[in-house]
Amino acid sequence: MKTVGYASYSAETEMVPYHFERRALRANDVAIEILYSGVCHSDLHTVNGDWGPQPSPIVPGHEIVGRVIEVGPEVSNYKVGDQVGVGCMVDSCQECDQCHHGEEQFCRHGMTPTYGAPDRITGELTQGGYSKHIVLREEFVLRIPDGLDLSRAAPILCAGITTFSPLRTWNIGEGSRVGVIGLGGLGHMAVKLAAAMGAEVTVLSRSTKKEHEAKLIGAKGILASTDEDAMIAAESSFDLIIDTVPVEHDVTPYAPLLDVDGTLVIVGQVGPMKEFVSVPMIMGRRRVAGSLIGGVKQTQEVLDFCAEHDILPICEIIRPDQINDAFKVMEQGDIAHRYVMDMTAMSDDA
Ligand SMILES: [Zn+2]
Ligand SMILES: [Zn+2]
Repeated sequence: MKTVGYASYSAETEMVPYHFERRALRANDVAIEILYSGVCHSDLHTVNGDWGPQPSPIVPGHEIVGRVIEVGPEVSNYKVGDQVGVGCMVDSCQECDQCHHGEEQFCRHGMTPTYGAPDRITGELTQGGYSKHIVLREEFVLRIPDGLDLSRAAPILCAGITTFSPLRTWNIGEGSRVGVIGLGGLGHMAVKLAAAMGAEVTVLSRSTKKEHEAKLIGAKGILASTDEDAMIAAESSFDLIIDTVPVEHDVTPYAPLLDVDGTLVIVGQVGPMKEFVSVPMIMGRRRVAGSLIGGVKQTQEVLDFCAEHDILPICEIIRPDQINDAFKVMEQGDIAHRYVMDMTAMSDDA
């Protein structure tokens, strides 16, 4: 199947239109016409080579919403016309303990990311959602519930599940005290989801400048990390802190904010972190942890949860030919919304 998208050829050059083939359908494959594609910070890290040299050309994008246009003969859960999504994974071994209990992201044999990895059968490179079509096995296709605005659902597939999963892992519910560091793509979803679970949510930020925005999406307020008195007054007052900062930073100032047995979970920065001081960890059995997206079952759960609680990411819809400008804005700092590309605006002969 011929398709077209935006690809990166190197860290130094801009994204350009790229014509390529999607594989012929295997028996258990679903072919999807992509309508919307979210722009994740990981896409930017990948094309910038922050995570090492990348295959070229590479089509990023792992927040995909579209419609089924064809199914293989063994596909049982989807039919032509269904509204569906694809997140950060398109395959895994399906046989190991992690796959069996629905945590394919931790597959013992390595899950297959949506872009930039060899296909498990042919070895050809997977290519992501900055394109008009995608083909993948049905086990990794998600259902977009009716009532969820298709143009805004895409970021739930990465930003949503990335913050939903730790909230579930640490049993956040009515009365839990949750801190969220950063109010970008991940942070604002963390606030909305935690608030919908009944938690009392505080945004941790350098200043209280964004307090109004934070309250609008369900936070109790902002704790300014530069306000020493406020930081001391807030010691031992959080059960969970979700750290969404996407660059190297120091977690030490935040650790005393955790209550005994509290956890600070890193979901933003993938790579080196500044050294931390162990004293607050030891003095309160506090933990620093990490979390990676979530399994297919839980990704479906967050989509359904968002539909049920009327939660949608804050999105700015752009045309695919605006992707290079969007990357530039994202490079300059945290933006409190997600860019989503309307892939129907990309012409076949771009
Ligand atoms: Zn992502
Ligand atoms: Zn597995």
